[in-house]
Amino acid sequence: MNRPQAGLSRREFLAGSAAFALACSARSASEPEVDLLLQGGHLIDPRNGLSAVRDVAVHDGRVAAVAEAIDPGRALKVVECGGLYVTPGLFDLHVHAFAGTNEPGSLVGDSSLYPDGHTFHSGVTTVLDAGCAGWRDFETFRETVISRARTRVLALLNIVGQGMRGGDIEQNRSDMEAAPTAALARDHADVIVGIKTAHYAAADWFAVDESLRAGEAAGLPLMVDFGDDHPERPLEALLGEKLRRGDIYTHCYAGNRRELLADGTPNPGLFAGRERGVLFDVGHGGRSFRWSVAARCLEAGFPPDAISTDLHIGSMNSGMHDQITTMSKFLALGETLEDVIAQSTWKPALAVGREDIGHLSVGATADIAVLHRETGNFGFVDSFGARQAGSERLVAEMTFKDGRLEWDRNGRTRRDWRELPHDYGEQGDARWDGILYRQRS
Ligand SMILES: [Zn+2]
Repeated sequence: MNRPQAGLSRREFLAGSAAFALACSARSASEPEVDLLLQGGHLIDPRNGLSAVRDVAVHDGRVAAVAEAIDPGRALKVVECGGLYVTPGLFDLHVHAFAGTNEPGSLVGDSSLYPDGHTFHSGVTTVLDAGCAGWRDFETFRETVISRARTRVLALLNIVGQGMRGGDIEQNRSDMEAAPTAALARDHADVIVGIKTAHYAAADWFAVDESLRAGEAAGLPLMVDFGDDHPERPLEALLGEKLRRGDIYTHCYAGNRRELLADGTPNPGLFAGRERGVLFDVGHGGRSFRWSVAARCLEAGFPPDAISTDLHIGSMNSGMHDQITTMSKFLALGETLEDVIAQSTWKPALAVGREDIGHLSVGATADIAVLHRETGNFGFVDSFGARQAGSERLVAEMTFKDGRLEWDRNGRTRRDWRELPHDYGEQGDARWDGILYRQRS
């Protein structure tokens, strides 16, 4: 099992600080001690219970220091972040990224999106592909998308061997096999963090049961898109009996499977599931987010564990847009910024056992989003074409992955061209600039 270590212990924290101190003392006075300093931003780091103005120093792709004031003279590059929010890089717990197979109309093909074109501009540094591939194609997915992306791509393995190809393929019980699914998941334990069942149309439990068997065998959680609604397999039974602690119910505010009862109140089965440790993911998508369901659940004290997009061609071009817009919708529904950040960083990381990311502890990977909270008259649309007005909107100003800049909406890291010689060449530095210097850590 190639699982990363759990979140930073005090020992690791101290080791990180010591390494930073050592790096500082080993250099001459004139040499910068850290690669990057994000200065004066409001840091929101839910893992560490922080919501306050802090400087964040980054060195060698990792968080080197977090403090009220860090001497800018020690940094190679200083980026002024006053008035902005500095958060861990966002984690989108539900996307579809198996593009490039040349299959029309399929989530193993044209309906999926290569991650890098849809992540950094939204502050996202990690995505979870929600089961596009099954065991038959996963290695192709890994080779052609996951290993080539600059975005960190984790994956759920579909219980259907042929994956999310729609139609009869996803209903083929003979291709839902726990044993090869679990075996492949174990072989790719560094990126496969769970099992997925989706779109199952029959009125029985076959797909859920086989997925649970695969999850048991591989020691992984299951994410369920519950497919068609049937009285023979009610939501209450899925959440109250079938799913285990740590399993994930996605599309939780769709309203397609009686998440709201006929009288418009939240299904008590949701609360019973949460009581048992089931996690709830937004998975907005093209047909899976309804204002009435989300608003009434939030009013009743049922927030999501994870805010996610269910990114695919259809959802991004309709009301969903991207992760940061989906987060803004929850601000419009009355959640706090701290809640929205937690549901898009540390909580999704915890849900898939990746305690090494989703926070900015000293020593952690420097995946960082710098966000602007704009005020004005905005509008947000759900999956059913209904609108909600909002007075705030989050925008990703800068995104750093492994300590290097991948997105800079307003050129905040850049110098005015008039300050440069007329024959200036590429600006930036490989130690902090991932845009002009395509280096991987
Ligand atoms: Zn999906």
